[in-house]
Amino acid sequence: MKTIKVSVVTPDGPVYESDVEMVSTKAQSGELGILHGHIPMVAPLQIGAVRLKNGGKTDLVAVSGGLLEVRPDKVTILAQSAEKADDIDVDRANRAKERAEQRLSDQKRDNIDFKRAELALQRAVNRIHVSEKHF
Ligand code: ATP
Repeated sequence: MKTIKVSVVTPDGPVYESDVEMVSTKAQSGELGILHGHIPMVAPLQIGAVRLKNGGKTDLVAVSGGLLEVRPDKVTILAQSAEKADDIDVDRANRAKERAEQRLSDQKRDNIDFKRAELALQRAVNRIHVSEKHF
């Protein structure tokens, strides 16, 4: 099977580079599966997992939204932040999740930015799921 080059890049630098058979992830318009030769496109990404399949192996990268650009032989993901499953600090993600949940439950009393806490919660839950390879 033909492979496609994939780069996941963040403002801090590259996080993942490889040749893979298939890239799958959730764009804002729905689930995307990209193989070699896919038509060129750009799509905004949700907070979620990117699955990178090659042979019998699947790598997982957690991304916190961003843009996916497809060219016939290359996929570039520009993400606000991204971590490979094995690089995720689960204790940190659990602490972030608790903080966000606390903010959400205090919301009515303290009028704290609800959307911001919700996004922090989504990032934390996504990191926990990716680290547990739940995708
Ligand atoms: P926290 O409150 O723990 O900082 P956050 O969701 O606000 O979480 P981000 O702003 O998305 O964090 O990311 C800041 C930087 O920290 C990025 O480089 C990101 O890759 C890294 N990062 C955040 N959480 C984790 C984690 N649990 N494990 C590894 N790296 C993380």
